[in-house]
Amino acid sequence: MEYLGGVRALDDVSLAIAAGELLGIVGPSGSGKSTLLHIMGTLDRPTSGTVEIGGQDVTLLSDRMLSTLRGRQLGFVFQQFHLTDGLTAWENVATGLLYAGTPRRSRHPMAVDALARVGLAHRTHHLPHQLSGGERQRVAIARALVHGPALVLADEPTGALDTANGTAVLDLLAELNHEGTTIAVITHDRDIAARLPRQVEMRDGRMLSDTFTGGDARTHGERATA
Ligand code: ADP
Repeated sequence: MEYLGGVRALDDVSLAIAAGELLGIVGPSGSGKSTLLHIMGTLDRPTSGTVEIGGQDVTLLSDRMLSTLRGRQLGFVFQQFHLTDGLTAWENVATGLLYAGTPRRSRHPMAVDALARVGLAHRTHHLPHQLSGGERQRVAIARALVHGPALVLADEPTGALDTANGTAVLDLLAELNHEGTTIAVITHDRDIAARLPRQVEMRDGRMLSDTFTGGDARTHGERATA
């Protein structure tokens, strides 16, 4: 991946993620993690190479088809949560269904169900400012998985949280993975990466290593070969 001005942000990266995996993409600032996230998330197009989601080459799809694909197949979690202030927890989660083609009448029960999965069944009518940071990130996680995406991309999901809440969010991601959700966590924090079953290490736009350690959490993912 080359940006305008000739910055080669990713070079010779080949990464396959199998259904059911939980992996960390780890590296210092400027190593290419965000660029990789944007390419995997179909938010940017690579200058060369291919991106396949569910066996489909997405590099040639139109912008409109890509946003449909994102709405159905991908979920995003950000460091700063990105919840909408005036919407309740369940309404924020329901926005994750807007582009998934979900009938209106199904949105409320699905959002409430997703909130229950992240331990927030008792907070469905709270507004973001009535929630703690850890709870806000849980709402954001519920929004990312409410439509049953093939892959959840979490960009520094614990970066804005204290240690206790960060650990709780990581535990939650491990639990959701155990239930079958495929999750990639982007982090600069080696300790966080070490807790995940697979670690992809980035440096200067290249993949330095790809290690399966099992982490703290056991997953049922089958390993894929690239
Ligand atoms: P990380 O997420 O690991 O901090 P990035 O993917 O953001 O790394 O950046 C990788 C490299 O690409 C860096 O050298 C960065 O300066 C450069 N870069 C990132 N985004 C852009 C952009 N939009 N235009 C030009 N260069 C960029």
